[in-house]
Amino acid sequence: MIPFVDLKAQYQSIREEVNAAIQRVLDNTSFILGREVEAFEAAFAEYVGAKFCVGISNGTAAIQLAVTACGLTAGDEVIVPANTFFATAEAVSTAGAAPVFVDADPISYNIDVGKIEAAITERTRAIMPVHLYGQAADLDPIFEIAALHNLIVIEDAAQAHGSLYKGRRVGARGLAGCFSFYPGKNLGAYGEGGAVVTNDAEVARRLRLLRDHGSERKYHHEIIAYNFRLEGLQGAVLGVKLKHLDRWNALRREHAALYNELLEDSNLILPREMDYARHVYHLYVVRTGERDALQKSLNEAGVQTGIHYPIPIHLQPAYAFLGHKAGDFPEAERQARRVLSLPMFPELTDEQIENVAEVIRRVSHVSLAVQ
Ligand SMILES: *Cc1c(COP(=O)(O)O)cnc(C)c1O
Repeated sequence: MIPFVDLKAQYQSIREEVNAAIQRVLDNTSFILGREVEAFEAAFAEYVGAKFCVGISNGTAAIQLAVTACGLTAGDEVIVPANTFFATAEAVSTAGAAPVFVDADPISYNIDVGKIEAAITERTRAIMPVHLYGQAADLDPIFEIAALHNLIVIEDAAQAHGSLYKGRRVGARGLAGCFSFYPGKNLGAYGEGGAVVTNDAEVARRLRLLRDHGSERKYHHEIIAYNFRLEGLQGAVLGVKLKHLDRWNALRREHAALYNELLEDSNLILPREMDYARHVYHLYVVRTGERDALQKSLNEAGVQTGIHYPIPIHLQPAYAFLGHKAGDFPEAERQARRVLSLPMFPELTDEQIENVAEVIRRVSHVSLAVQ
């Protein structure tokens, strides 16, 4: 069996370091926030090139708090891509603002920057690009549109730790950048985790209040807020794993290059690395009109795959109240029917990739012969 993600292999490779870090937390009992979280926040801020990093309990809460900390409230509209994980839009909604969807680009899968301006109304306050699958959205035109219409930019970088846009790590350019440390992400905790990075001291201060009952000083509460704190154990684990992130991302890129080479002559549309981006392949996503058949054949051959995502956000039952219908965002809808994510994680072996490619070549051969 070839798994979609293998977290055990990674743990085995860093077992000693992680166990020692966990033991430190147990010994000093700083279970919530505390020194391990602070040390990780400082290291991660430096890594992405931001002045501040505020650890949050998970990526969804990070987006919700970023929206609030940036000053958005009820009635404010936030432009989000229609093809993303549900949490992007959900967190805008739980912050009290309203997501407004924009179709996906057919080549990069990210927000189609050419369609953003048509979605701007007098209530629009922010654009939230998602660096989907690990590849940066096209930030220069997004920031130009934002400047022109006096909007802020909040990045959803939950899939893009260490990903570059024109040589700079994503997350730190907008007023806030949101990260998830869900275990399967490129930088994953051993439980829930998230963070917001920012260069704005006031936004950072509000984030610290928002995650901890509106309190900077124990039992003094400035605002009604939340309990969205990052745990000490997660801070300790993330501090260890951050040191390996660039190496792991480099391995993901090598695996993607081998997939590209082996699948070049297949009838699949392969991921395209845009000239402005350095992709970190959180997901290796191929595209085919025969998606369901291909997934079934791979599954029968013992290859686990995923679909990211099968239903675009505007067609989710949760957003039925917005009144969208099939056909509103045709490219996102086409992607939902055609995309397939192949196994991708740093510890994947060349042999495993060759096996996956072999199954795909065999299957596409058969379907060609049938025609
Ligand atoms: C994972 C993810 C989130 C949410 O992060 P959690 O830590 O799972 O809450 C948000 N946006 C995107 C694009 C994601 O992939």
